[in-house]
Amino acid sequence: MLTEIKQDQLEKELQEHENVVLDFYSTECPPCEALAPKFESLATFYGEDIRFVKMFRQGNRELADKLDVKGSPTLVFFKKGKEIGERLVGGIKKADIVRNLNSMLPAEKVSDIRKKIKPVVTHTDVIVLGGGPGGLAASIYLAQAKVDTMLIDQALPGGQVTTTHQVSNYPGFIEPQQGFMLSHYMSEQAKAAGVKFKVAVDVNKVDLQNKEVLLDGYETVKAQKIIISTGASPRYLKIEGEKEYYGKGISYCATCDAKYYHDKEVVIIGGGNTAVEESELISKFASKITMIQQLPQLTANKAAQERCLADPKIDVMLEHEPRGFYKNGSDKMLVKVENLKTHEVKDIETDGVFIFVGMKPNTDYINNPIETDDWGYIKVDDEMRTSIPGVYAVGDIISKKYRQITTAVGDGTIASIACAKEVDN
Ligand SMILES: Cc1cc2nc3c(=O)[nH]c(=O)nc-3n(C[C@H](O)[C@H](O)[C@H](O)COP(=O)(O)OP(=O)(O)OC[C@H]3O[C@@H](n4cnc5c(N)ncnc54)[C@H](O)[C@@H]3O)c2cc1C
Repeated sequence: MLTEIKQDQLEKELQEHENVVLDFYSTECPPCEALAPKFESLATFYGEDIRFVKMFRQGNRELADKLDVKGSPTLVFFKKGKEIGERLVGGIKKADIVRNLNSMLPAEKVSDIRKKIKPVVTHTDVIVLGGGPGGLAASIYLAQAKVDTMLIDQALPGGQVTTTHQVSNYPGFIEPQQGFMLSHYMSEQAKAAGVKFKVAVDVNKVDLQNKEVLLDGYETVKAQKIIISTGASPRYLKIEGEKEYYGKGISYCATCDAKYYHDKEVVIIGGGNTAVEESELISKFASKITMIQQLPQLTANKAAQERCLADPKIDVMLEHEPRGFYKNGSDKMLVKVENLKTHEVKDIETDGVFIFVGMKPNTDYINNPIETDDWGYIKVDDEMRTSIPGVYAVGDIISKKYRQITTAVGDGTIASIACAKEVDN
């Protein structure tokens, strides 16, 4: 149903099949790993009418460059040999793929495929929504306390740690750990404890009042309690060209995309912890980095700042702000930046841009009224209870001062011990 191809085989695929969807994936790319099971399961439903192929981006760079694929994963849809619809890049939702696939087929076919999918109801004691370190710690404690626990994540477990280059401050490891390995240890520990995993699923509806979550449009999971641990996501700049060039030169994930900038020039937007720490990874590949920071100084921790300022490849432009991203017919991108002191505006030519300008809590899916602070972070009591009875929140999504792996794990521990006492099992 799903076939791996090389770049010289695409032409033949397009000649032989009217409808083709192509997945450009990379290694060490958490969003690619999260996409893989969704892509495979859709291939089983749509495989008779649409050809599903995947291609290793690093091994087929020529075609990736020709198609201007600069983010992993990227899904490209073809009809009668021509690219159609919207390209999907990065953390891709199943519903978005389904929308594109349906647009390639006649209405009767789509209706036949829908009929094959039957609704299901699943019961568990506790739903842990979000599998970052906070959610993983909570589920390990719950499962070890013999509480039936289901961990639900729209991606693979691990959260932000998965895309972190190196973690050196999580106790228990003498040497710095690669983020994805630390995530792997945590999720394997949760599996060994007996936590049930529903990962890389589309979370369509979350009813916190009734403790029900609808997955992939057909599976309703019902529980007694819910622990919310959906963390935080990168903030967007919301300026011209940012959306348009996402995946075509603009990235929010150094772990996923830094390796494509070997010997190339890169602009990093931001000057806080993430921007400065990720510049170390990007500097291993890029020939030159221009870091654009709106404040008069970098705001990362001192040690990281010192390493960044000592790196001869990194040029820091303080008190500058990006105003837009453009391309003028070539592969290069132009970043329009304003000097905040003189208001002079100039263009910087670059091969790619990484944006690290802070985080926002992942609460968009919450429709029930829940108490938050002025920035939208969920308020909890000292046992991590939210304002909704039976609903706890942990990790980066809660209103607190310090957002780290250890603090998320600590919150998860507290919530799970408190929650386990209240579960009727
Ligand atoms: C680049 C970078 C480097 C960092 N370096 C360090 C470091 O060195 N040391 C340190 O201690 N901390 C570091 N941090 C911070 C640390 O990663 C976070 O504090 C920590 O991951 C928070 O854990 P969490 O469980 O609250 O949420 P997250 O890690 O954000 O995980 C949230 C999970 O919820 C899932 N999710 C989101 N929305 C939904 C939904 N609607 N339904 C289902 N699932 C959903 C996500 O897919 C994700 O898996 C770093 C962060 C970044 C971005």
